[in-house]
Amino acid sequence: MTQSVCILGVTGSIGRSTLKILEQHPEKYSVFAIAAYSRIQELVEICKQYHPRYVVVPSARADELAQLLKAQNIQDIEILTDQAGLIAVAEHPDVDVVMAAIVGAAGLLPTLAAVRAGKRVLLANKEALVMSGDIMMQAAKDHGALLLPVDSEHNAIFQCLPEDYLQIEKKGEPESGVAQILLTASGGPFLNYSMEQLKTVTPVQACQHPNWSMGQKISVDSATLMNKGLELIEACHLFSIKEHFVTVVVHPQSIIHSMVQYVDGSTLAQMGNPDMCTPIAHALAWPERIHTHVPPLNPFIHSRLDFQEPDLIRFPALKLARQAMQAGGLAPAILNAANEMAVAAFLQDKVSFLEISQIVEHSLNQVQNGPAESIELILQTDRLARQVASQRIMQLES
Ligand code: NAD
Ligand code: MG
Repeated sequence: MTQSVCILGVTGSIGRSTLKILEQHPEKYSVFAIAAYSRIQELVEICKQYHPRYVVVPSARADELAQLLKAQNIQDIEILTDQAGLIAVAEHPDVDVVMAAIVGAAGLLPTLAAVRAGKRVLLANKEALVMSGDIMMQAAKDHGALLLPVDSEHNAIFQCLPEDYLQIEKKGEPESGVAQILLTASGGPFLNYSMEQLKTVTPVQACQHPNWSMGQKISVDSATLMNKGLELIEACHLFSIKEHFVTVVVHPQSIIHSMVQYVDGSTLAQMGNPDMCTPIAHALAWPERIHTHVPPLNPFIHSRLDFQEPDLIRFPALKLARQAMQAGGLAPAILNAANEMAVAAFLQDKVSFLEISQIVEHSLNQVQNGPAESIELILQTDRLARQVASQRIMQLES
């Protein structure tokens, strides 16, 4: 029996890497449904190769996709649209595994639908968990979903924790002799830039990550260190710990993907060449292991590993994220929404690099925090934070 896989965000960097692994293991996995927002031509090529039963696109692109599929004589693929389509495939009874790899808040409801349907959910879409942390984790527990981290750091932490760690009942304190989590960060392309240099960096420079090839949004997040901030929040939820048990360590080589420290003085690290195919394969097959094309680490080439503390003056986004997690409630959703708006504005040359964190800080100050009681309230707060951030962006533009 093959496992039937649904890939949300199939044309993205994580989506593509997922296909690469599935292709290597046709006896284990089949592609049941795929979803993307744009790059329709690419989507047609994927349909040709993998013959999924469903494809989900925005309704504005559905006719174009239908025509292209027809022109290629590809039949028997049903086209679904928008959020309703994403949710339908994520919770479809014939789906075993959902790869949640949409970027940003757009992935929240489909990811939650997969969790509520009790699927094995491979979580790349960290923004969904940042926004809805407690609700998402509780839903996983209530519906018996297996929420497995694909983010390389969280996957590394998961590998360094005791096998049954996710199942243990926890109350914000680490269990099973775990003392602390060391969340590693490459430091991004501007690690050694001065404040003066950071003032004028461009989107093209920000998207050139030294070690990883990723989508634009996460590349900018890596450059501001907001990515590490989002990951700090992600780690607190996934492993049920308070934020002061997570220490961020800058490790420019990206060979150690994160570490777990134990009370007896042991530190366990997971290492490997920086390639997302490793954590994707791990989450797909866990607790088994499957082959990938990723070459094993050659310690003679990577003979030097450096570590340093993050600089919160030049990279204030990390501080803002930690504060948002400390504040709790809706603050992480406000942080995330404002950041999505600010990053999009930076990519369109509307605001400068350093203004990204200023927009986020402004939004956190302006939007009322409170308990994250429901998904509706979280989404409402997300919209409000986007409005506040947009106004700030317009002021900065003029
Ligand atoms: P990407 O920009 O390369 O791809 C995003 C995918 O989401 C595309 O298929 C796009 O069509 C789809 N999408 C975008 N907006 C959508 C919408 N409104 N509705 C439906 N689909 C939409 O991004 P990526 O780098 O693959 O990252 C995806 C997620 O994985 C992000 O949350 C990111 O933080 C996380 N992640 C990525 C990496 C990486 O190495 N790329 C590593 C860890 C975590
Ligand atoms: Mg990561």
